[in-house]
Amino acid sequence: MTELIRYTAAETAAAVAKGEVSAVEVAQAHLDRIEAVDKKVNAFLHVDTEGALSAARAVDEKRARGEELGPLAGVPLALKDVFTTKGVPTTCGSRILEGWIPPYDATLTTRLKDAGVVILGKTNMDEFAMGSSTENSAYGPTGNPWDLSRIPGGSGGGSAAALAAFEAPLAIGTDTGGSIRQPGAVTGTVGVKPTYGSVSRYGLVAFSSSLDQGGPCARTVLDAALLHEAIAGHDPLDSTSIDAPVPAVVEAAKLRDVRGMRIGVVKEFSGEGYQAGVMQRFNESVELLRELGAEVVEVSCPSFTLALPAYYLIAPSEASSNLARFDAMRYGLRVGDDGSRSAEEVTALTREAGFGPEVKRRIILGTYALSSGYYDAYYGSAQKVRTLISRDFDAAFAGVDVLVSPTTPTTAFPIGERADDPMAMYLADLCTIPSNLAGNAAMSLPVGLAPEDNLPVGLQIIAPAMADDRLYRVGGAVEAALNDKWGHTLLEEAPAL
Ligand code: GLN
Repeated sequence: MTELIRYTAAETAAAVAKGEVSAVEVAQAHLDRIEAVDKKVNAFLHVDTEGALSAARAVDEKRARGEELGPLAGVPLALKDVFTTKGVPTTCGSRILEGWIPPYDATLTTRLKDAGVVILGKTNMDEFAMGSSTENSAYGPTGNPWDLSRIPGGSGGGSAAALAAFEAPLAIGTDTGGSIRQPGAVTGTVGVKPTYGSVSRYGLVAFSSSLDQGGPCARTVLDAALLHEAIAGHDPLDSTSIDAPVPAVVEAAKLRDVRGMRIGVVKEFSGEGYQAGVMQRFNESVELLRELGAEVVEVSCPSFTLALPAYYLIAPSEASSNLARFDAMRYGLRVGDDGSRSAEEVTALTREAGFGPEVKRRIILGTYALSSGYYDAYYGSAQKVRTLISRDFDAAFAGVDVLVSPTTPTTAFPIGERADDPMAMYLADLCTIPSNLAGNAAMSLPVGLAPEDNLPVGLQIIAPAMADDRLYRVGGAVEAALNDKWGHTLLEEAPAL
């Protein structure tokens, strides 16, 4: 029997449903794994041992009563520390929320609990989801399980690392500019940014509200689809939630057939700055799609080259407004409240002590871009670029079913390498940002190791809004073909921890 921690989510749920193993045994195996390796990996900010075991016991009791179990009942999950969890700390990787215990569950948290998913704990992240390496966490960086001296991507590096380190078969991330897909790419795991508005943002601590999107992270395409189905769907508590049926992602993941599909290669996402081994694996994936019966064409999206600067005006602008709520009165940290200072002084001292440098940089950038006299020149122009990007997508999707590109230009870089160079760090999201600006759906899945450094490479698949099922159809086919070719999954090549 394979070790429990190596089971896929689908296999785990089936084994629990058949009674081959109890949900408590599964949870305990993962808690033991966390205990054994997480000092090295630092994927978790908080492990909820009691909560996990009691959720697992509830699943076992339900089964004992003969009640039907859902498709993910008893499956452990690592939750990004940006979703509120009632009674369990939620820090967003920031000192300013240290010690804050949310009084309510995010809608996503509630849905996971209702599905019988066992939440193991909260994962490390760049502070308020700002970053591409998890180095901006106030609680220390996370290591990439492929090479602990390298970054696991960000901002959801903790969630991706937990999967790659076999600490959990499922995880949740959020993607504002790439924070699900880029960590997926550099850790050899699967990450999906669903269509904007299809997974509720209620209880997701806001970074950039018009871009933020929660989504599934997993080790297989089918597992991501099962999780996608569990968390997506209309929520009256989120005013931007889409009131429409969730695309049939699980069915699509099982199809494994791309014959007759038209696939566009985004011309703008290649050239200078793209690592040779990343391009090699990407080009092989395109060839594979052709062999599998898809029709591949080149597509030009000229405005995509403007996506990065537009994003770095829009996201900080929204963040500067959203983060105004951390005023020392409502949540977490309070500094300098000795009776001699005004509320304004306490707020200022608290924000000075509680926010890290990247968060401060973005608040300053955002307030500047929104200030009168500069608003039209910066924020206004960025919004116009956003429209141009949506039009490029519309034109592209008139001719193809999905677009493909590398997920990120390079493999995992060493911790520290880009920490003092925000521009270099921002480049990690060159290929992922357009889909956030336009609100459509995108996936990253592993397609091999770059020959020069033996580190994972991700293929990005992009679909129109509310056509998330196409990601799973293409991703499922590519994954199956590669696993056939290799005779195993990519993560089986990862060095032992
Ligand atoms: N790396 C990007 C940023 O720093 C994206 C972050 C995200 O998607 N949350 O803003």
